[in-house]
Amino acid sequence: MEKKKIKIAILGGGISALTAAFQLEKSGYSAVIFEQNSEPGGSMITRNEEGYLLDFGPNSGLETTPLIAEIVNEIGMADEMVYANEKGNKRYILKNGKLIPLPMSPAAFFKTPLFSARAKFRLLAEPFIKRSHDGYYQSIADFVRRRLGTEFLDYAINPFVSGVFAGDPEKLSVKSAFPKLYALEENYGGLIKGTLMGARERKKRKEVAKQSAKMFSFRNGMQSMAKRLAEYLSSEIKTGTEIEYVRKSEEKFEVIYRKDGQSASEFFDLIISAIPAYDAGRIFQFGDEDFDRHCSQVYYPPVAVLYLGFRKNRIAQPLDGFGFLIPTKEKKDFLGAIWSSVLFENRAPEDYESFTLFIGGAQKPEILDQDDENLIANTVAEFKKIMKIDSDPEFVKIRRWEKAIPQYNLGYIEHERYFESFENNNPGVFLSGNFRGGISVGDCFKNSSLTASRVLEYINKISKPTEN
Ligand SMILES: Cc1cc2nc3c(=O)[nH]c(=O)nc-3n(C[C@H](O)[C@H](O)[C@H](O)COP(=O)(O)OP(=O)(O)OC[C@H]3O[C@@H](n4cnc5c(N)ncnc54)[C@H](O)[C@@H]3O)c2cc1C
Repeated sequence: MEKKKIKIAILGGGISALTAAFQLEKSGYSAVIFEQNSEPGGSMITRNEEGYLLDFGPNSGLETTPLIAEIVNEIGMADEMVYANEKGNKRYILKNGKLIPLPMSPAAFFKTPLFSARAKFRLLAEPFIKRSHDGYYQSIADFVRRRLGTEFLDYAINPFVSGVFAGDPEKLSVKSAFPKLYALEENYGGLIKGTLMGARERKKRKEVAKQSAKMFSFRNGMQSMAKRLAEYLSSEIKTGTEIEYVRKSEEKFEVIYRKDGQSASEFFDLIISAIPAYDAGRIFQFGDEDFDRHCSQVYYPPVAVLYLGFRKNRIAQPLDGFGFLIPTKEKKDFLGAIWSSVLFENRAPEDYESFTLFIGGAQKPEILDQDDENLIANTVAEFKKIMKIDSDPEFVKIRRWEKAIPQYNLGYIEHERYFESFENNNPGVFLSGNFRGGISVGDCFKNSSLTASRVLEYINKISKPTEN
């Protein structure tokens, strides 16, 4: 087959799909991208309402790889990329109803009221705790309890896990969900030793650890980047096109889709799937029931995102940070809040502040059984108390995600191994997206670039060079 005649389909129009297309185009290949929504971006959805800029999905990313700046520069968005206000380095944790800054230096750690003297002393034992085995079957909670102690789990890791995955630390696999953290123990024997030594290696790879990476967004929100990337691509983007299923037909893959109420189909030589696992399971009809089973077992808990706008002068809590996270032990209805208008400009009208609150997730999915009215009333009451606000919000908007973020729970490795074998058994199919290799926006950039490299290798293997 001639190289440049290879027809590539990309399923989904989120950041994973768009990045894969971008990387393939750099090598001279264009693709057809199928997206069911009317616009590209996937979970990146930004709206402007009453002077508030609302990111329904990711509100920022961490610049963990130079790849992000490369793409942003190339699509001409460098001057629209914004970095979070330095105040954002300060993060609060709720303890006994009060907001306590998360200590960011050894000196602050020894002074903080967040942990007892006993818990701080316990940390000194960390370098002497032996390695564990097979973190795929060890939860992040067990890992942290063993290495750092229970208080550290309850008031640092538990809220952190809520903030990133909206996940349950007792269920998330430490090695699948936090591979870099587990690697510190696996490779260096401990977290403290590993953090110090790993920094040198990251410097060599020009990578930045998540905890020191700069937080970025765009002046007009995260979706503005996805939209610009989509405009930049020469690949055809079929929005408003729902893929019904994909089947194998001799050497080709047939994508059957619906657009404007009509069914149609097209043939491709290879397929990159960048849709969520639960959709992929249904769509790939390759006579393999295990595929659907594995895909549907990847749990995506529901999350609601609540936006609140208050007048600045009604908020007594000093707004000098990123926001706060709530440990499960504090028994609140929501998981935490980002102080959106403090982090980035252009998020709220003048004289107002905007906040983004997260509710539900893997630990409290049932809280979302309430209707919007109750959910909002209960959450607003708790939020006002914590933030010492003496008026009702002037702006309220809720957005529910029925299936928000894939959880790399205990047993996830069985799915991952299966996905690898599925790809090996079906040459020409590449499974990408945030249910593989990390859920953050930065991870999606990295993993889709790796997927594009795998695709190029495959093309080289199956084709002969283009004849002039
Ligand atoms: C509420 C929320 C907050 C988040 N906050 C952050 C954050 O602050 N920072 C961060 O780094 N990450 C965050 N994330 C995670 C991050 O946004 C996602 O992991 C990432 O955007 C996923 O990109 P993706 O392209 O892999 O998948 P998606 O964005 O899910 O894209 C998949 C696309 O496939 C399409 N699709 C599905 N089925 C079909 C079909 N049958 N036919 C056609 N198209 C189909 C969907 O419409 C969708 O557009 C957040 C996620 C959520 C939900």
